Amino acid sequence: MRLILFGPPGVGKGTQAKLLSASLGLPHVSTGDMLRDAVAARTELGLKAKATMDAGGLVSDDIMIGIIADVLASQKCEKGFILDGFPRTLPQAEAMTGALRSLHVSLDAVINMEIDEQLVIDRLSQRLTCRNCGRIYNLKVPGPCPNCGGELYQRPDDTPETVRKRLRVYSASTAPVKDYYRKTGLLRDIDASGTIEQVYAAIRQVLNID
Ligand code: AMP
Repeated sequence: MRLILFGPPGVGKGTQAKLLSASLGLPHVSTGDMLRDAVAARTELGLKAKATMDAGGLVSDDIMIGIIADVLASQKCEKGFILDGFPRTLPQAEAMTGALRSLHVSLDAVINMEIDEQLVIDRLSQRLTCRNCGRIYNLKVPGPCPNCGGELYQRPDDTPETVRKRLRVYSASTAPVKDYYRKTGLLRDIDASGTIEQVYAAIRQVLNID
């Protein structure tokens, strides 16, 4: 199965991608995680991307298209993938269509996760991520990770001001990608304002997975 999880920051793409990845046995490909790893490792890519990410902007299409073309062609994505955070612009979506076509494969669905903007702002301002296992929590009080005991931290781009910027960028540059996929008949709308379990059930239902 080749799947895109689409929606604004904070809608729960990463959380749902991890669940689907575990149950379907497919790789979770998160461009945000790849960029954060590059920043942590201080690679050339990380050094280029850090300021843009911290400010809530988008890393350039050229860079992102190059990264994703390599991943899609890699062995790990041979049987499918759960894509989270890509495409975020029309040129990225068009490039991805071309890359998949040249690999002679096609997308199965684009899950459009819909949510109220205020809920996103509330969620992200409380979101903590584990440095060790990557799990995401909505906790008011920071402490050790309930899963592995690792350190929980707030992403530098999850401050209220940067979250508002990311939502503006989403409306201007990313939301138009929805129409691109709606025209292909691949878009599946779901309500992502419920609990993790409710949203997971809704995704499984539109994908016809038991
Ligand atoms: P995420 O973890 O998906 O919220 O991504 C974190 C940040 O990484 C975004 O705010 C962007 O700065 C950058 N980023 C991730 N994916 C992309 C993409 N497809 N295009 C441009 N920038 C991206």
